[in-house]
Amino acid sequence: MDVAYLDLKKIHNKIQIELDEAYQQVMDRQWFIGGKADKDFEEAFASYCGASQCVGCGNGLDAIRLILLAYGIGQGDEVIVPANTFIATVLAITYVGATPIFVDADKDTYNIDVRQIEDKITVKTKAIIVVHLYGRAVDVTKVKIIADKYNLKVIEDAAQAHGAKLGGVRVGNLGDAAAFSFYPGKNLGALGDGGAVITNDKEIAERIRAYGNYGSYIKYNHVFQGCNSRLDEIQAAFLLIKLRYLDQWNKERRQIAEIYQEKIENKKVILPTLPQNMEEHVFHIYPILVADRIDFINYMKKKKITVNIHYPIPIMEQKAYEQYREQVDFYPVTKMICSQEVSLPLYPGMTKKQIDWVIQCINEF
Ligand SMILES: *Cc1c(COP(=O)(O)O)cnc(C)c1O
Repeated sequence: MDVAYLDLKKIHNKIQIELDEAYQQVMDRQWFIGGKADKDFEEAFASYCGASQCVGCGNGLDAIRLILLAYGIGQGDEVIVPANTFIATVLAITYVGATPIFVDADKDTYNIDVRQIEDKITVKTKAIIVVHLYGRAVDVTKVKIIADKYNLKVIEDAAQAHGAKLGGVRVGNLGDAAAFSFYPGKNLGALGDGGAVITNDKEIAERIRAYGNYGSYIKYNHVFQGCNSRLDEIQAAFLLIKLRYLDQWNKERRQIAEIYQEKIENKKVILPTLPQNMEEHVFHIYPILVADRIDFINYMKKKKITVNIHYPIPIMEQKAYEQYREQVDFYPVTKMICSQEVSLPLYPGMTKKQIDWVIQCINEF
């Protein structure tokens, strides 16, 4: 039986008519940037997150970058960031000219090890970026206590965690500002690129909007050397439809993860540690650890199951960041995750038979 890693058709087929209508409405209006759909989606997504402000932008990387710019973070500043993340989190920091200060992952949550943050703070530190990796919220309450003590901003990279919660509060509403990506494969994905910033700070929201609009609050009046990073009407219109299904899709992801957690039994496979309250995890990724990863992936390929790796090479071992190469040994948990992690197929619309087949194959590995 074929099992794709992700099958977007399963998601989009069910809402085809609504997506077609949304497309038609934008076409009828012939207004493609900064119109009704953008406004409606921003309002709906802010409200979904429980926050007051949402600013659409071009993608998730830009969302992080625009937040850093709006806080005036740049050359000479340090930003604390998890070593175990997608490269975009770090690219945003170096784009603005700041220095990333890496913190290793926690061996249970795979998220930033909050206990190691304080030791990394210097007089140059301006912000802590937490990444809710794989759809699991970081314990931001603890991060905030540290941030308040040193007067630092807490920025959430929530690109993998639309709808996830911590103590009943949605991600996006836990720190000072949060970045979301609507890349098609995310839990809430556009039919192309897209991103957004969520915050409760109106002034910062307006500054971010201005930065992404050539540095202007008022047309042809430029106060910063900004850039062009905006959310298209057509994507906003699609996102507005898809947002209505997000909770249901996240629930389905959670149910699949629960079945994996309960039924996968193989000494060669380490399952993730899950949060006390499963309701808060949105399982963008279901990560397992396998020491013999290459063998395992080839075996699954023979069974026609596609798996993935998030992420195979630590950022410090990337050519793009070779100045950090010697540091990699200071991040043993990140190194371990990068060398053993395998992401199992998981998406709304996955059939019971497909789930059972994945489990059976893993148990027979
Ligand atoms: C996807 C992702 C991003 C970047 O989002 P884009 O929309 O692709 O730019 C940033 N951080 C994390 C953790 C991601 O998973």
